[in-house]
Amino acid sequence: MFEKILIANRGEIALRIQRACREMGIKTVAVHSEADAEAKYVRLADESVCIGPAPSNKSYLHVPAIIAAAEVTDAEAIHPGYGFLSENADFAERVEQSGFTFIGPRPETIRLMGDKVSAKDAMKAAGVPCVPGSEGALGEDTDEWLRMANDIGYPIIIKAAGGGGGRGMRVVHTDAALIQSVQMTQTEAGAAFNNPVVYMEKYLQNPRHIEIQVLADEHGNAVHLGERDCSMQRRHQKVLEEAPAPGLDPKLRAKIGERCAEACRQFGYRGAGTFEFLYENGEFFFIEMNTRVQVEHPVTELITGIDIVQETIRIAAGEKLSVKQKDIQFRGHAIECRINAEDPFTFVPSPGRITLYHAAGGPGIRIDSHVYQNYYVPPHYDSMIGKLIAYGATREQAIARMRVALSEMIVEGIKTNIPLHQELLTDAAVLQGGMSIHYLEQKLAAKKG
Ligand code: ADP
Repeated sequence: MFEKILIANRGEIALRIQRACREMGIKTVAVHSEADAEAKYVRLADESVCIGPAPSNKSYLHVPAIIAAAEVTDAEAIHPGYGFLSENADFAERVEQSGFTFIGPRPETIRLMGDKVSAKDAMKAAGVPCVPGSEGALGEDTDEWLRMANDIGYPIIIKAAGGGGGRGMRVVHTDAALIQSVQMTQTEAGAAFNNPVVYMEKYLQNPRHIEIQVLADEHGNAVHLGERDCSMQRRHQKVLEEAPAPGLDPKLRAKIGERCAEACRQFGYRGAGTFEFLYENGEFFFIEMNTRVQVEHPVTELITGIDIVQETIRIAAGEKLSVKQKDIQFRGHAIECRINAEDPFTFVPSPGRITLYHAAGGPGIRIDSHVYQNYYVPPHYDSMIGKLIAYGATREQAIARMRVALSEMIVEGIKTNIPLHQELLTDAAVLQGGMSIHYLEQKLAAKKG
């Protein structure tokens, strides 16, 4: 096992990884920007290194500074968390070439999955069901685009091969709009992702977002940890997640889960990963794979009892998976509310000092957050300040506990989206479960009148 790990991230996930390491007796190195120098997890780390000024491109995305920090502290491995460099194949490669272990998949796998066209091709070959669409990337023949769109049937969606974070997508309803829409998406994708390649998919009109968590080791073992329902989204960003997905047939879960685990064995996948699907009329359609730990991993941890972050560390150290599929049981229900520093209804970010803070507690409540009273939420990064997670024997109990927890949370001095979550957890459709990915936006639009 490693003696010392460098955590190349910030905020709640840096703290989460640090906790996993400390529990395992592994020393930690925190790297931080000047804006995060005072963060508590930085002080709790065995060592810390300032890697640059506040802007991410000069600190958390600055590869030479991170490698240098690993060198001066004698860290053996680097955990990238999520976001920042976590899905950057060049970074993973640099880490390994510099003699450190990258806690994540092989660089080739990250590269394969980072391009949505090659990822989809690989999935098709592995027998994972995909959204019907173009065979690979769109070429130059505009007549061919029209033919494909009509074969697939409108509405269709044009997506950038290099897209991410919900950007680089355009829905098209008619032949008349197609060519210009493809060209606009190509231009935008070239500017935003340095890759103008786009492809075409059937636009599913009322799907749910259901994703499968997997773990795979270097010895050819792979398991799935069931699914998460992340349909509650705004601008393609997840707001609230839960596991299991309400109403999903356990047989279907086992079938799609095993497909994903088998795909991992075929790709020689290593580490934690998530297969994201759209789910409509009882069918799964693959959209993308995330080759890292996800924000919403705790809901899976709570219903399986498996520490996903510790597994990523053990796998990177070359150990075998600590669990076999037949030993994995899904018990109870878990819900996660992402707590953001933002106006709950306009979504305008609200950085600043937290003047009063009281965390919720009680049975089944978990809070993954790096903030505390007097913490200054810097304006430079993502607005998420933590995650409130509730576990219950049933979905009803998890919801009841979450409601109490939300009412107990006190975060003053900045605005948070807690009132939005409170509204969601009294919403009849949410209580019933199984809403589509459009539900939240429709609800917000109706509220605006
Ligand atoms: P990103 O990497 O930007 O997150 P994804 O491919 O995961 O891109 O898609 C993000 C979101 O966009 C999905 O969760 C869904 O809301 C929507 N979306 C993507 N593809 C489709 C599709 N074929 N039909 C309907 N919605 C889609």
